[in-house]
Amino acid sequence: MIVQTIKVALGERSYDIQLGAGILGTIGTVCRELGLTGTAAVVSNTTVAPLYFDTVRAAMEAAGYQVLLVSLPDGEAYKNSATLNQIYDALVDGSLDRGSFILALGGGVIGDMAGFAAASYLRGIPFVQLPTTLLSQVDSSVGGKTGINHPRGKNLIGAFYQPKAVLIDVMTLDTLPEREFRAGLGEIVKYGAVLDGDFFRFLEENVDALLARDKEALIQAVARSCSIKAKVVAVDEREGGVRAVLNYGHTLGHAVETLTEYTTYLHGEAVAIGMVQAAKISKHFGYCNQADRDRIAALIAALGLPAELPAFPSEKYVEALSHDKKVRDKGLLFICNRGIGAYKMERVTDLKALLDICA
Ligand code: NAD
Ligand code: MG
Repeated sequence: MIVQTIKVALGERSYDIQLGAGILGTIGTVCRELGLTGTAAVVSNTTVAPLYFDTVRAAMEAAGYQVLLVSLPDGEAYKNSATLNQIYDALVDGSLDRGSFILALGGGVIGDMAGFAAASYLRGIPFVQLPTTLLSQVDSSVGGKTGINHPRGKNLIGAFYQPKAVLIDVMTLDTLPEREFRAGLGEIVKYGAVLDGDFFRFLEENVDALLARDKEALIQAVARSCSIKAKVVAVDEREGGVRAVLNYGHTLGHAVETLTEYTTYLHGEAVAIGMVQAAKISKHFGYCNQADRDRIAALIAALGLPAELPAFPSEKYVEALSHDKKVRDKGLLFICNRGIGAYKMERVTDLKALLDICA
């Protein structure tokens, strides 16, 4: 049952996000309606394919498609050029031509890699996102960023490439490990905190339902998140301006991930820490009051997400924050919450002072 359709307005690259509970089996019809032809290469991994590939295959075959499964090893460690080559090899071996397409079935790692394969194989073939983690449903499947990691840094190789559609089935979240699920909630809080105060209140009022993975609450939370992100992306597809607001909580979050070498926190957990610190900093600059700051910290705590910056000397944080040349030259563009539901971008040059606020 398709409950909601959200439009991502990007001119001729516009597409729909279809959202519901138990709708994975409609993927064949969706592809037909999009006019997609030829073979469907389903790019997935060894965790997700055993859970959901049968449903996707049956739906696609019922709609008259040939289906090819490309099952990759699971993990961020495999988001690299060797695994990307594995996708290309499978597409070449399967004789996929420009009349074929890719279905990305999995979390953000699969979506980013399959999307980049679609962007580059034969100079671009269509693809559809079937995101199966909460993070990928509310964040990575919307907006068209695709790519892989390079040994020297995350997401260094990639392209902006929009899917033809995104089909989100919140039922797939039932099998998601608890920690991954909560980490996805962290990214959802971000949208409320800086872009939609009513949504923030909805989250506060629905913590229990969300943690119980109540489908109605999840559909609402995912739908609101997608439409907020879609609106931002529609204004700033290539991140030249307002899209930076989506980095709320991410500046310090990334520093935490770097300092802990990506081993201690999931991305959404690091972002949760970053948001609690960002709220402190926003209060310090006078953009929100103590009550706003407390609400952000309370929601993050209620969702079982971490809040404390791990203990590293502040010079280490400053170093992690200023790795990029732009920051060293012009300072850091720090995203503050203005009250709750709005934002203010603050150019910060004294990074040591910024860290002192968090202490
Ligand atoms: P992930 O893709 O690694 O998935 C997390 C884990 O959950 C994996 O082990 C996966 O196999 C498993 N899994 C996925 N769906 C499942 C299900 N339904 N049931 C059981 N297990 C399931 O991680 P993620 O958090 O989804 O995505 C992180 C990636 O997304 C990062 O590489 C990040 O760079 C990228 N990202 C991209 C964007 C973008 O705009 N393109 C935005 C945010 C993040
Ligand atoms: Mg993020």
